[in-house]
Amino acid sequence: MEQKTYLITGGAGFIGSHLAEALIDRDQRVLVVDDLSTGNIRNLDRIRVHECFQFVCGSIMDEVLITDLVDRSDAIFHLAAAVGVKLIFENPVDTIRTNIRGTEIILDLAARKSRKVQLASTSEIYGKGVEVPFRETSDLLLGPTTCPRWAYACSKAIDEFLALAYTRQKLTPSFVTRFFNTVGPRQTGTYGMVIPRFVGQALRGEPITVYGDGLQSRCFVHVDDVVRAVIDLMDSENSPGEVYNVGNPVETTIAELAGKVIGMTGSASTIQYVPFEDAYGPDFEDMERRVPDVSKLAGVIEWSRLKSLDEILYSVIDSMRQEQSA
Ligand code: UDP
Repeated sequence: MEQKTYLITGGAGFIGSHLAEALIDRDQRVLVVDDLSTGNIRNLDRIRVHECFQFVCGSIMDEVLITDLVDRSDAIFHLAAAVGVKLIFENPVDTIRTNIRGTEIILDLAARKSRKVQLASTSEIYGKGVEVPFRETSDLLLGPTTCPRWAYACSKAIDEFLALAYTRQKLTPSFVTRFFNTVGPRQTGTYGMVIPRFVGQALRGEPITVYGDGLQSRCFVHVDDVVRAVIDLMDSENSPGEVYNVGNPVETTIAELAGKVIGMTGSASTIQYVPFEDAYGPDFEDMERRVPDVSKLAGVIEWSRLKSLDEILYSVIDSMRQEQSA
């Protein structure tokens, strides 16, 4: 891989920090900008002092700062965004602003320098669609604006429209990756993500909180696999103007997941079923299934031999145990 300088917005976050490490391991230069609102500087401990790495604490809304960083980079991974469903309920205004205005700033500045931008999006965008697996061309079925959850999907949909519009008008060679339930070490349960929450509860011997009847399912993919896809797609000449699902199509119900976590940790925790309303408040709608169709991705990059749920859980349990004993 020829040496380039990559800007990662949101690079102190869970996926961004793994991406930064992987690029440094491939002898690339990395600039990370993050305002540490949900990211954590400790995520970058391993590469913080590397000569090819620089961390800048700042916001993607700071146009002067971003202008300088875009100038200094060859391509941009735009990962900075409000994360997780929980945050949307707690802070809806900032969620919408960060997702839309922030992306507009990045795309606009990238356009002035003709930089390639990879926009990180989400499987949340498929909304309440029931015709799984979801293809990149599937309709988006979002709920009403009175239900705050959908603000997240809608704001990311606007981001996608924007990124593709910039490409269509030949302003940037941008493209979109939709991540499906990405998990692995360093993901925090603070924003509601189910695997770090269940593993944390199991290790503390607390009840495992399964929301609803637990029959809803998700497809979990290891962050290492996602990072590999993200880098390979950035490298691919075919990616501009395209949208790719990035996920592992193997489906697991949340109740099954709870049982597996208890088994693999050897915990004495019990399972506690919690109504959605108690977990998220009255206006909540959950999705039953979210399965990616990954044939488009597999047509462009190598996408087989993905890490299994057991491997994912072992890596999360291991890293959370180490944190506990640190
Ligand atoms: N979930 C759960 N207990 C928790 C946290 C989440 O049962 O403590 C459920 C949640 O309702 C959803 C699934 O796990 O059905 C995945 O939730 P997460 O927030 O990780 O991802 P998303 O809903 O965005 O797919």
